[in-house]
Amino acid sequence: MLPHVETPIQKLEKYQGIISDELLEGIKNLAKDFKGLKVIMVNSTPRGGGVAEVLKSLVPLMKGAGLKAEWYTIPPREDFFKITKEIHNALQGKEYTFPFWHRVRYLEHMERSAFLMRDMKADIWIIHDPQPAGVILYLPHFHPSICRLHIDLTSPNPEAWNFFVGIFRMYNKVILTSKEFIQKEIKERALTFPPAIDPLMEKNKPLELKKARLILESFGIDVKKPLISQVSRFDPWKDPLGVIEAYKLAKKKIPDLQLALVGLFLARDDPEAMKIFKEVEKTVEGDPNIFLFSNPDQIGSLKVDIFVNAFQTASDIILQKSIREGFNLSVTEAMWKRKAVIGGKVGGIKLQIQDGKNGFLVSNPKEMAKRIAQLIKNPQLVEELGKAARETVQEKFLIPRLLRDYLKLFKEVIK
Ligand code: UDP
Repeated sequence: MLPHVETPIQKLEKYQGIISDELLEGIKNLAKDFKGLKVIMVNSTPRGGGVAEVLKSLVPLMKGAGLKAEWYTIPPREDFFKITKEIHNALQGKEYTFPFWHRVRYLEHMERSAFLMRDMKADIWIIHDPQPAGVILYLPHFHPSICRLHIDLTSPNPEAWNFFVGIFRMYNKVILTSKEFIQKEIKERALTFPPAIDPLMEKNKPLELKKARLILESFGIDVKKPLISQVSRFDPWKDPLGVIEAYKLAKKKIPDLQLALVGLFLARDDPEAMKIFKEVEKTVEGDPNIFLFSNPDQIGSLKVDIFVNAFQTASDIILQKSIREGFNLSVTEAMWKRKAVIGGKVGGIKLQIQDGKNGFLVSNPKEMAKRIAQLIKNPQLVEELGKAARETVQEKFLIPRLLRDYLKLFKEVIK
């Protein structure tokens, strides 16, 4: 068997009053047909990054709705995750030659993982992202199966795409986040719905501003001065260097500006983070107004969820300067907390932010710097955007909606 991730049960009723009664009833009606349905989710890491974050809430909620949902990961291997990180980058558009030995290593680990799955039984399989997607090559009984891709597939590198498209096409359905990601080769089996956040998680529950500020102060931040933050892994697509450039430009207008980059190394499938962090550290050159968080030991016994919540709650503005983005839950989390978010005009961020209505979209550090200065000087605008941001998340990006979309899909797949 694959490594199992323990999950509790979450009752649907807990969301009463947060989501509409109509959605709640709709889910209950759909779920009636799926009592006892065994759903197995497989991804690459039990923590760190958006996919684990979604599964942490979605699996318990599926169980609460009467399904038998289970979550497994493929066995961790450092050499494998080094290769899959390159594949991930390539599928998001980075130059890549996809060496023969990378293909071999990838397939070897897929075969090994599939071997561990040989006696596992499910009514429906949901495999998340390219890292585990290849197991289907070695599992003839693997149907119905769904491949859920969380990445930005706007312009994949052809070598990586040509290899993976054969794998994706073996699945009954491929779920993507945005219509922009549908490439012609998978068109007939593709459908789209976005991920979602869980408002009942400690990370997203209301945290008193006073408490949040105390937490920030304990890390050396001056809460009387303006603070902008990006909560994201140290990853080239999240463009931390672009954020620092924007901060430096904005600082010319707002001299006491502070910046926090919150990207604790939590994801085992992201071996690139340390390298990017080192570059960031070099660029920062000991600026006392830039605060970097990468090592989980830095936060001691404080829970990660509370730590992240504190930054999202007490920052004046949240940034997400990605240059490719499947969705980005950090944006959703901040919008839920009524924050004005300035995000890169790409992929999944465009699904969430409507420029000028519930946040701002930008294409480069200069534009970002302009918006930072504008917002810091205009708290009224921050409040208006934040209010609209909250409404957007309430309407579209809370976890029960995601459950509903999956149930609808199950209806279609299990005939
Ligand atoms: N996150 C966290 N600690 C950190 C940085 C990020 O818990 O130090 C969380 C963040 O709150 C979000 C997830 O990691 O829930 C990142 O998901 P997202 O979709 O934004 O990006 P991904 O890492 O999946 O590309």
